Amino acid sequence: MKYQELVDVYSALEATTKRLEKTDIIADYLKKLDVDTIGKVGLLLRGSVFPAWSSQEIGIGAKLVERAVAEAIGTSKANVEDAVRDEGDIGLACVKLYAKKSQTTFFSQPLTIDFVFNSLQKLSKISGSRSTNRKISILLELLSQASASEAKYLTRTLTEELRIGVGDGVVRDGIAQAFNIDKSVVERAQMLTNDFSVVAQTALLEGENGLKKLNLTAGTPVKPMLAQLSPPLAEIIPEMGVAICETKYDGIRLQVHRAQGEIKIFTRRLENITHALPEIVELFDECLPHEDYIVEGELIATRNGEPLPFQNILHRVRRKYNVEEAMANVPLKLFLFDVLYYKVPMIDEALSKRREILDEIVDDSDDAMNLSTMLTVTEDNIDEAEKLFESSIAGHHEGIMIKDASQPYIPGIRGKKMLKYKAEPETLDMIVIGGTYGIGKRGDFVGSYLVALRDENDEFKSVAYAATGLDDATLEYLTGKMKELEIATKGRKIIVEPKIVLEIAFSEIVESPEYETGYSLRFPVVKNIRKDKGPKDIDTVERLISMYDAQ
Ligand code: AMP
Repeated sequence: MKYQELVDVYSALEATTKRLEKTDIIADYLKKLDVDTIGKVGLLLRGSVFPAWSSQEIGIGAKLVERAVAEAIGTSKANVEDAVRDEGDIGLACVKLYAKKSQTTFFSQPLTIDFVFNSLQKLSKISGSRSTNRKISILLELLSQASASEAKYLTRTLTEELRIGVGDGVVRDGIAQAFNIDKSVVERAQMLTNDFSVVAQTALLEGENGLKKLNLTAGTPVKPMLAQLSPPLAEIIPEMGVAICETKYDGIRLQVHRAQGEIKIFTRRLENITHALPEIVELFDECLPHEDYIVEGELIATRNGEPLPFQNILHRVRRKYNVEEAMANVPLKLFLFDVLYYKVPMIDEALSKRREILDEIVDDSDDAMNLSTMLTVTEDNIDEAEKLFESSIAGHHEGIMIKDASQPYIPGIRGKKMLKYKAEPETLDMIVIGGTYGIGKRGDFVGSYLVALRDENDEFKSVAYAATGLDDATLEYLTGKMKELEIATKGRKIIVEPKIVLEIAFSEIVESPEYETGYSLRFPVVKNIRKDKGPKDIDTVERLISMYDAQ
């Protein structure tokens, strides 16, 4: 199957903003594909060659792609850089550059989806000596055979920004429509497998019944269930009926899997960090049965038994070397709060039942292995939930979680059945898409950061410039990162690849036509650089609007 056909689909998708039209385009295309191709297209439509559960990335920087484009069409790197600066996008720059291409490729074969997909996967596996040259040679094979429109989407796929306005929802609807399957069945299959390749192939081969049989597997991470901000306790607890209130620990969330005797630890971004936490692997081996399971908990760093701020645990987990030294210096404590799988999938069980199972299977006699402090609350003992909140804050934790005891675990959802009640004001995690250099003495530093949120199609929409909350060392660090990620600079303005996540506090959300979301923030302050989060984990425009409405 020719890559050009997929590229034509990309173009058609980019040309419309209407969701129903996008769904039609995807559905019509998927119906024409064989099982092997549909598996690949399922991922390529979302601009990737790996399922969402995988932390593998294509991993090619924009600069390397620009260099390869220059070589492929026989022009200078400076020419490519100029075009990218003018167009603000590598894909559009390619369209312009390929029209003037001086190099013709003889005997070139049309690119196939198979070849493109396999080459992109190969790129992610290259490391070590001479890796740049090996990457360039694969890029050249692709880019020198590409048409202008193929180059447009190839380069965007390589830089992981496809810009066709297609999120998970549209792909899901497209699969449902193509094979006449209920949308909710496709949605559930995607939620449980996190793999559009498997979902599309199963839909094609086995239809709705096949999709219904897909389930969680121990060993493959699932997106965690997320929390919304809680209304006052007196309002929400009667609404839930029976709630489970727990201390909210301020660390990192771990999803721990045991499958066929092997223990694996994932972050909430589904990144495998098993290698960084050997003592936690050992702890699980000792404290939980030797069965297949998936459990979740919060991991915190401690000193003299007291919790340390969140940044400490992050340093520990990010560490690649001297893990042993860190193990001795930063003792860790784990607080388990959920079980998703124990011998069989458990997510459809009520939370109260899951918690009972968790209590049964965990031996918490080791100081490092704990179950979260919890309390069952109804409208008759709301005061106890308030006391738990106070004692949690006094113990240097963040607040409490309030969870509906009757509810299943719904992966990837930020719903009303799991809430957080915190002492600190709310913040939003945003992605940096650009910035402005300072003036005078500050001219070497990017002093102000253009931050954005994600819309339903995974596109970034600007919200504000954040310029306060940064000390000199952080400014220097961030400026360095901005230079590494630079796409273009014009005057004092810089545009960067969307990779840096900042946690932004603010006093109020206001309407503003100046920003792409239509809203902006009053007094935005950078609270943290969230190195534990990536572009997919930032907050959404939808969330901003619901916070605005709640104000
Ligand atoms: P959010 O990340 O905004 O959805 O807030 C919920 C986060 O709080 C979870 O992702 C966990 O990392 C963390 N957390 C801390 N303690 C608990 C707990 N007892 N139950 C659930 N989540 C917890």
